[in-house]
Amino acid sequence: MSSIFKKIIEGEIPADKVFENERILAIKDINPAAPVHLLIIPKKEIATLQDMSEEDRGLLPEIVEVAQKLAAEYGVADGYRLLVNNGSSAGQTIFHLHFHLIGGRALGAMA
Ligand code: 5GP
Repeated sequence: MSSIFKKIIEGEIPADKVFENERILAIKDINPAAPVHLLIIPKKEIATLQDMSEEDRGLLPEIVEVAQKLAAEYGVADGYRLLVNNGSSAGQTIFHLHFHLIGGRALGAMA
């Protein structure tokens, strides 16, 4: 079954898009954990970070480039987190790979 992110990618469900090309979509998180909370989502359906194939890993430089661009655009280039929750025990709730870009406040120590 398609995840909610696949439905957003296909335009079936609306989202606040901040970047899009053929391979990657970035949107604002619906329940932001900080003033800036974006989700960078490869359009290919990859369930988790752990499921990335060698070919899928070719997406990573572009994901980092998009993160750098968005961090600058949203004024958090000097301090942000780019993170993936891999698996339910790490807090993953949507099983379509996505990278959280979080910033805009003091983030404190990691759990
Ligand atoms: P995860 O817990 O899987 O790492 O992250 C899922 C994220 O997706 C959460 O931060 C959650 O707030 C966000 N989210 C869940 N449903 C939607 C939605 O329909 N639209 C948007 N923009 N974000 C969503």
